[in-house]
Amino acid sequence: MAYEQRQMHQGSWSCSKCGSEITELPFEPDPSRVGQLKCRDCHRQSKNNSYGHKRQMHQGSWSCSKCGSEITELPFEPDPSRVGQLKCRDCHRQDRF
Ligand SMILES: [Zn+2]
Ligand SMILES: [Zn+2]
Repeated sequence: MAYEQRQMHQGSWSCSKCGSEITELPFEPDPSRVGQLKCRDCHRQSKNNSYGHKRQMHQGSWSCSKCGSEITELPFEPDPSRVGQLKCRDCHRQDRF
C-alpha cells in the first residue's frame, strides 16, 4: 500500500482556549465541533496535563484467586470472564519474582 502523506486542511478557525487563529489542521473539522478546536500549543498543553492525571481506579469487590483476600480496587476494568483469575496486589507481586 502506498503511503499517503497526511493532507493539511487550510482554513480560518480560532482556538477555543486561547483564541489564537488556527490556519491549518491535520483533519477536516466537523462543523459541529468547530467551537471546540484547539491550537497546537493548547493541544500540546492539554496532552501534558493529562500525564499528571492519576490513573482511574475501578472500585468493586472481587477476591484473589490465589489467597482469597478481598480486592477493592483495580487499575483496570476486569473482564467478567476473567474475574476468577484476579490476583491481589501481594500475589501479583509474588508472581513477578
Ligand atoms: Zn490555543
Ligand atoms: Zn492474593
